[in-house]
Amino acid sequence: MSSYKAPLDDLRFVIHDVLQAESLFTRLGNAEVNRELMDAVLDEAARFSETVLAPLNQIGDQVGCKFDPATGDVTPPPGFKQAFQQFVEGGWTGLTNDPEHGGQGMPALIGSAVTELVDSGNLAWGNFPMLSHGAVKALETYGEDWQKEVFLKPLVTGQWTGTMCLTEPHCGTDLGLLKTRAEPQADGKYAITGTKIFITAGEHDLVPNIIHLVLAKLPDAPPGAKGISLFVVPKFKVDRDGTVGERNAVRCGAIEHKMGIHASATCVMNFDGAEGYLVGQPHKGLQAMFVMMNTARLAVGIQGHALSERAYQNALRYARERLQSRSLSGAKFPDKPADPIIVQPDVRRMLLVQKALIEGGRMLSLSAYAQLDIANRSPDAAERERAETLVGFLTPICKACLTEWSIENTYNAIQCFGGHGYIAEHGIEQLARDARITTLYEGTTGIQSLDLIGRKTAATQGAGLKLFLADMEAFAKEHANDPALAEFLGPLRAKCEEWGQLTIATVMRGMANPEELGAASTDYLFYSGYVALACWWVRAVAAANASDHPQAFKDAKRDTARFYFARILPRTLAHKAAIESGADSLMALPEAGFGPQG
Ligand SMILES: Cc1cc2nc3c(=O)[nH]c(=O)nc-3n(C[C@H](O)[C@H](O)[C@H](O)COP(=O)(O)OP(=O)(O)OC[C@H]3O[C@@H](n4cnc5c(N)ncnc54)[C@H](O)[C@@H]3O)c2cc1C
Repeated sequence: MSSYKAPLDDLRFVIHDVLQAESLFTRLGNAEVNRELMDAVLDEAARFSETVLAPLNQIGDQVGCKFDPATGDVTPPPGFKQAFQQFVEGGWTGLTNDPEHGGQGMPALIGSAVTELVDSGNLAWGNFPMLSHGAVKALETYGEDWQKEVFLKPLVTGQWTGTMCLTEPHCGTDLGLLKTRAEPQADGKYAITGTKIFITAGEHDLVPNIIHLVLAKLPDAPPGAKGISLFVVPKFKVDRDGTVGERNAVRCGAIEHKMGIHASATCVMNFDGAEGYLVGQPHKGLQAMFVMMNTARLAVGIQGHALSERAYQNALRYARERLQSRSLSGAKFPDKPADPIIVQPDVRRMLLVQKALIEGGRMLSLSAYAQLDIANRSPDAAERERAETLVGFLTPICKACLTEWSIENTYNAIQCFGGHGYIAEHGIEQLARDARITTLYEGTTGIQSLDLIGRKTAATQGAGLKLFLADMEAFAKEHANDPALAEFLGPLRAKCEEWGQLTIATVMRGMANPEELGAASTDYLFYSGYVALACWWVRAVAAANASDHPQAFKDAKRDTARFYFARILPRTLAHKAAIESGADSLMALPEAGFGPQG
């Protein structure tokens, strides 16, 4: 089984030293969220993850969820229900929610750090509470007063859980194709009929009621995505006064057998005239859906990151213990039969790629959550708007890069173990299998890339990028005379300038031919992710030097930043070349040229 120790030192470094959360929260009017409180929350979440969730990770993978076709019931693996009860009793489900609805009102930044700890401990388990967040957000933003009154508190306090029911067999990315229907009833309710697939936590026995947020079309719906409406459909009917009634006509028809996250219930949900209520305006469900998806997208980025962290910890331990061969420059441990493999440059490469992407990714994603807190809590409207633009810009980068890097990181972790990584005993292969879903759900990497280059860049004249680069330039000016940063700031400024120019050139080509944007999109997303990470690595060096961490910690940050600049940032050269090569080489080949029809 893979082991896990919460990386509290690095989390605290990012939260306190890099992001200066205490002064940020004071400025936002949450002075009570001081360093002591944040550390206490992290300590307790770490304990819960290490001692309750992590030990259930392997058994969850081996046993998986069980489906009873006779009843439609789904039973999660042993221990999951008790862990959920403990989580609820600890008040964790509503950590970041509004106290008015039973939440604890903690900033999103702290909530995301807790999510990392939970997901490293047990990603499949973490999916059960996670899905409620999107449902809560949608109801908070678009729900009628009575809906907020009736549904929010049980969801926030973990008495019930939520789902997001979007996907149908013939409709995944393109939700405009969905066929689920909503028929208005005389009593103002709706009868929902259709089949949703791949619904995470669609059915389980952790709580007595499950609240489905369902996308469906009204009879007079315009075609395509403009005709989508959002409905709330409980497993057990709920009246407007909150009375819980009989079982609703919604039932799990099957669960999927998957490559990873076996303990997460991925359900086919059949709605057979199920009673539901409209949320928000008719035909405006897409807006509400984005409210649900935006929080979920950042959270899925954290999922990938959390698995990277756990895989890296195990690879590092193994590389220190595994004795094979001698160092190329002569034996480092002559008293032992061989040196540990960590002395080998190629093993160090694999470890350092993981370390640089994980610690850098942590800064990138937590900084996006800090912007989310500013967007939600700043008293200054202009600052809120600025932060909202930045969050929008950073969301596809965080979601796609952190999840794609989790595949690279778990791959490298397996390589460090050699053949022992491929067998189940060490639990590393489970992390790689679990990581694979993160680039797919909540919008594939391709869709995040189109979102970044299209909606978040071309459509806004690069508003988010301009803000990000302005912040970076302000930082560079402030630290222009810092000798410790001199080696980084020059190359970084050049890269940032290149990022701006590349963006303008790509968007211009896209205006003449939209396929140019599609052809550039994924390379542009990775290019952006690598430059953004470089920015955070320079900030890490500055923050470490200014902190009271031991010299070894500061040196490690500097050395990892050097590795990042020398060996990872140059990946941008290949992405830039691919972007600049344009769409022709992708579009020239006629479809028949791809190969014979299978
Ligand atoms: C384990 C699991 C859990 C899930 N949980 C949920 C859930 O709780 N609720 C829910 O509603 N859904 C859920 N999903 C569904 C998931 O969000 C979808 O699988 C995902 O959105 C992709 O849709 P699809 O599988 O139909 O792929 P498709 O949309 O068919 O896409 C196939 C490929 O084509 C690419 N592609 C498609 N359109 C475009 C385009 N316009 N431009 C460029 N590339 C494109 C995609 O990037 C992808 O690579 C889950 C899926 C899984 C496997």
